[in-house]
Amino acid sequence: MAYTFKGGIRPDDHKYTKDSPITRLNDPDTVSISLSQHVGVMCRPVVKVGDSVKLGQLIGDIPGGLGCPVHSSVSGKVIGIEEVTTTYGGSSYNIVIENDKLGTLCETVHPFGKKLSEATFDEILAVIRNAGIAGMGGTAFPTYAKIAAARGKVDSVIINCCEGEPFVTVTRRMILESLSDIMAGIKIIMVALGVRKAYIAIEKDRKKEIKVISNMLTDDGIVELMKVSPKYPSGSEKHLVYALKKKELSEGKTAIDAGCVVFSAETCAAVACAFTKGLPLIRRVITVDGDCIANPGNFEVPIGTGASYIIEKCGGLCKKPKKIIFGGPLMGHAQWDVDAPVSKTTSAILVFSDYFDRESRLEPVCIRCGRCVGACPMGLMPLDILALVKKGRIERAEALGAAACIECGSCTHVCPGGLPVTQYISRAKTDIMARRRSAASEQQK
Ligand code: SF4
Ligand code: SF4
Repeated sequence: MAYTFKGGIRPDDHKYTKDSPITRLNDPDTVSISLSQHVGVMCRPVVKVGDSVKLGQLIGDIPGGLGCPVHSSVSGKVIGIEEVTTTYGGSSYNIVIENDKLGTLCETVHPFGKKLSEATFDEILAVIRNAGIAGMGGTAFPTYAKIAAARGKVDSVIINCCEGEPFVTVTRRMILESLSDIMAGIKIIMVALGVRKAYIAIEKDRKKEIKVISNMLTDDGIVELMKVSPKYPSGSEKHLVYALKKKELSEGKTAIDAGCVVFSAETCAAVACAFTKGLPLIRRVITVDGDCIANPGNFEVPIGTGASYIIEKCGGLCKKPKKIIFGGPLMGHAQWDVDAPVSKTTSAILVFSDYFDRESRLEPVCIRCGRCVGACPMGLMPLDILALVKKGRIERAEALGAAACIECGSCTHVCPGGLPVTQYISRAKTDIMARRRSAASEQQK
């Protein structure tokens, strides 16, 4: 029997790159590294234009509060600190570094000097914090802060190996090629949390990876496979928790409220890398695909590598592109700059022609078919919220639960009317959150 949840969809998976091994691309001539790749405050630069930097050197640190430090992914010289519009539409600063191609390692990069069994909680947390690890499955929440918040409140950890977004095959390839790193990271996180149980969540139809994982599990049952129904959004934290614990997490609640905590497979591998090699999070694996990409595949690149460089290394474009997306087609973000750099949370670069751009082929209209209601894994009424948002009735949309939307994209995907339902609800969420913040600050005055 598979673990499951209410709602969800089964989009065509388009996993054309699932058999493409991860290839390490030659490093680019320059990288542009964002100081805001995580949930929390933007980092402050600790280098200036003209400075020489080494691989793994701290270049941006948290001024205080929640956040993740940022490190150089190449060695070379800082040639700019530029204001940019981020992948998510906000404003940030990027540090631009000219790569000297020497890969000179920073002196601060060295393996953790103790056995894990001898390390204190604070020491483990410091390694993860100083490595700048943020949820690589897309949440971008600082990993050290999640562990600190969960310690003493959870009895188990869920490792998210689900990959329901069409086209994206990063987690699959990492399981097949780097499972020992993922397992080492799981162990470190379990020790930090003081828990004795981990569940590796994966869609039940992924037989090849399930076999590889099963071969690595021991008989003690401490780490167990959790086979999840293969429907989207199987990798959503709220839905994994519901599938395992049968507890619904309402708006504002997290897995910790249900006694567990969720980390992605990529995050676990980054934690292991920080301990065994001392390397901060400066590289990541991405899928490059879409009908415009000449030679799709999975690639490991330095954080800060521009999309245009990566596309060129994939043989360039074979069709006129209409849309470039960072992440999957359901939850990813369309880009307006083909040079947008890869961040800690970029799982894919997808480039599509008209063929995949449904909005350009249809005149959007709601035919009240109700498909979005059946698809919504949060039990919302997307069509009603959409209608209210269109009329500017944000308070009424809030009363219908708009703020609980996880922006999974399922309603947009199933809509035969071609309506960008998720985008309307997402816009309402932004307004609701802004109004709540301003009400909270008024109260504090
Ligand atoms: S309303 Fe939100 S949670 Fe529901 S299907 Fe649409 S995007 Fe997903
Ligand atoms: S799926 Fe689209 S057309 Fe159908 S009710 Fe929802 S918004 Fe309307």
